[in-house]
Amino acid sequence: MMAQFLEIKSANPGLLLFYRMGDFYELFFEDAEIASRALGITLTKRGKHLGQDIPMCGVPVHAADDYLQKLIGLGHRVAVCEQLEDPAEAKKRGSKSVVRRDVTRLVTPATITEDKLLEPGENAYLLALARIRASDQMAYAFIDISTGEFRLGETAPARLLPDLTRIAPREIIVPEALFHDPELRPVFDQFGRAVSAHPAALFDSATAGDRLARYFGVTTLDGFGDFSRAELAAASGALAYVEKTQVSERPALQRPQRETGAQTLFIDPATRTNLELERTLSGQRDGSLLKAIDRTVTGAGARLLAARLRAPLTDVAAIAERLDSVSQFMADDGLGATLRAHLKALPDMARALSRLSLNRGGPRDLAAIRGGLAVAASVHQVLSGADLGAELHEARAMLGAAPAEVADALEKALDDDMPLLARDGGFVRTGHHDELDEMRALRDQSRRVIASLQADYAAETGVKSLKIKHNNVLGYFIEVTALNASALNASDDAKARFIHRQTMANAMRFTTTELADLESRIANAAGRALEIELAVFEQLRALSVAHADAIRDAAHALAVIDVSVALADLAASEGYCRPVVDDSRTFRIVGGRHPVVEQALRRQAADPFVANDCDLSPKDGADHGALWLLTGPNMGGKSTFLRQNALIAILAQTGSFVPAGQAHIGIVDRLFSRVGASDDLARGRSTFMVEMVETAAILNQAGENALVILDEIGRGTATFDGLSIAWAAIEYLHEHNRCRTLFATHFHELTALHEKLDRLANVTMRVKEWEGEVVFLHEVGQGAADRSYGVQVARLAGLPDAVVSRARQVLDQLEEQNRDKGAAALIDDLPLFSAAPAAKQSVPNAVRSAIEAALDDLSPDEMTPRAALEALYALKAVA
Ligand code: ADP
Repeated sequence: MMAQFLEIKSANPGLLLFYRMGDFYELFFEDAEIASRALGITLTKRGKHLGQDIPMCGVPVHAADDYLQKLIGLGHRVAVCEQLEDPAEAKKRGSKSVVRRDVTRLVTPATITEDKLLEPGENAYLLALARIRASDQMAYAFIDISTGEFRLGETAPARLLPDLTRIAPREIIVPEALFHDPELRPVFDQFGRAVSAHPAALFDSATAGDRLARYFGVTTLDGFGDFSRAELAAASGALAYVEKTQVSERPALQRPQRETGAQTLFIDPATRTNLELERTLSGQRDGSLLKAIDRTVTGAGARLLAARLRAPLTDVAAIAERLDSVSQFMADDGLGATLRAHLKALPDMARALSRLSLNRGGPRDLAAIRGGLAVAASVHQVLSGADLGAELHEARAMLGAAPAEVADALEKALDDDMPLLARDGGFVRTGHHDELDEMRALRDQSRRVIASLQADYAAETGVKSLKIKHNNVLGYFIEVTALNASALNASDDAKARFIHRQTMANAMRFTTTELADLESRIANAAGRALEIELAVFEQLRALSVAHADAIRDAAHALAVIDVSVALADLAASEGYCRPVVDDSRTFRIVGGRHPVVEQALRRQAADPFVANDCDLSPKDGADHGALWLLTGPNMGGKSTFLRQNALIAILAQTGSFVPAGQAHIGIVDRLFSRVGASDDLARGRSTFMVEMVETAAILNQAGENALVILDEIGRGTATFDGLSIAWAAIEYLHEHNRCRTLFATHFHELTALHEKLDRLANVTMRVKEWEGEVVFLHEVGQGAADRSYGVQVARLAGLPDAVVSRARQVLDQLEEQNRDKGAAALIDDLPLFSAAPAAKQSVPNAVRSAIEAALDDLSPDEMTPRAALEALYALKAVA
């Protein structure tokens, strides 16, 4: 058995092997250690291998799903190995024979279809990466096999991280060579266990086209669009993996569609995390933007909303279409409420369809499609005659094209209550199939005949307690107590009639030819009935799968409607407004609020959120947006204000109304933020280093249509260092990047920059001082904060009185000394930072190659800031 185990194990590297032994799946060796730790189950020993104990743990088969879910949630991949024959069969071959076993299914985070293992509102993407060396093209393809979605696109090493964070795949498969590429290593590291390496053959671009064509049953891919070699290779890798994990079944996938990256708002990974779009920094859903705005009532709707939030648009017309859909349901005519009532009953059609196409579905999946198509029909009906905008118009058309043929067939054939498994039978409606009805009648009738036989036999033998019973071993039999048995086997006549079957401790069992006949009639009828039901199931399954595209379209249309109604509901109940989105560089928010904080304050019954304006629009005929320098004490509300404006831009470009009185936003093409300090100690970077890396990314990449949010940069180092870095960054943003910028700082010295930088405005979070205490008004006003109130805030936080008063004394002293040496003086001393890059001086070739050689030896990710500085000095010395 161990030999068999080891063979199967080595054929499935990187997977935990669930090895079926009777009623348990057993895990051995390292798998057992990993699983027992992950699942909190006992680790035991079984036998020896090479003289060592074999660690083992096991999970009962009936509870396996729960354990699988937990392992997959942790990012593990599992191979399920079943017994392929009855152990009795194996015995027949010889007493030492091992039961034949093989892997029947790979369960991995992105290739599961069971509802129990899936989150209704979340996509489970599998993503494959491929690179063509010769042309240096790189591409990704991703599949959600639970819904059939299949997309692909080009990427590049520098764009890989943003692309991957945007798509957020559960699993990433890459060719071995790419997996070990040092350039991509840091990116893969961020996804940990989700990334796995696979043989290059899976991604072979030469055979990729064939694989796709074969999968979709076409002779040429011409109808699919024009894909690059890298895209084909990635798509082929993804498909090959799907085929491998599903062993023999093929999910019904959509034809691959190219993602058009240029049309979405670029949000870099740090910003995505920091703004807590889908999860908070601590990983919770509660407290994220998505959670605060999600009012969808269907799983497909929730998935669509999450996908939209992940990739806001930059196309004015497309955004307007989505906003029109929301506006449509803002009208107080009850249309939204009516639709919602229908949508609430919507089963997850896409996922049911996918299970059916994989031959893993049951009658309930057919019922889900029946239910979904019924909702599609009634929603279509509700919308008929309505004057709809483009997006909803298209959705209605898709609903109109839902396959009535499938709906009819399912409606006619399926009963109301569904068993879980087709082989349980009993799901076909009476009246649908004549022979089936006949067989069922025969079966039921015979059962009645048996009941009357019991009465006859009791009368005939005079044994009142005589019973006809049934079990799986004997089938139907007559049972009497041992005391009464003589009535059935004393005389020869009786013996001929009642055939002895079994003697129990207190009872004796008999049968008769009549009973045996009846029994076989019942068994035949039931068998035939089940056969018919299974044929009906197969026919309905095939019919549904044949109409997969139209059913999926209908499901998508319903998701679009759900999202639009949900966003309208959100806007109406939370008082959001429709933003004006155009191609200008305007950014004007009147009465803006933070969507998440606002709701949180309300839940805590705290003081209501204070709305604030923000205007970063170009002024006085200028073409570039402004920079607001925001000062104010800690706890004053600076980061809340910064974040709320970024979130409003994201929401507007997602096609949602926004938490504001008015909003006018010129398309933002890239959104950057540097907010909050997050240590990245795992990668050996200090807080300050992380901050500088993120700031560098912004200064290097933000263009004129970007929106940049910077919170307290330069905090992680000595005061003068920090101030100088912040100072230079502001000048650079203003002169070079020229993007719309919000910059919060506690260096009041920076407010002096306003004299030199014409598009910089000073704003401050208002506070009141009352009896020596500071009161936060959370109001953004013009001007600069006059002081930090740090000591007061510290007192609020509960610092001991003695420390607070001592701090006051020190502060007074310091302020006294510094009064006349403010940074304002610097303004005159320092020439304005010059944006023009320093003219390139010609560098002798020898020096250049020495520098290049020295640069090659550096690996910035592994250096401490100090080592980096030393390296810089060394380079300078060479130059
Ligand atoms: P800072 O960044 O200046 O330290 P925060 O933005 O973290 O301040 O805000 C501190 C707290 O003040 C928040 O947790 C929030 O509860 C509250 N707050 C911030 N802005 C507002 C506002 N506009 N209205 C009401 N409360 C606010």
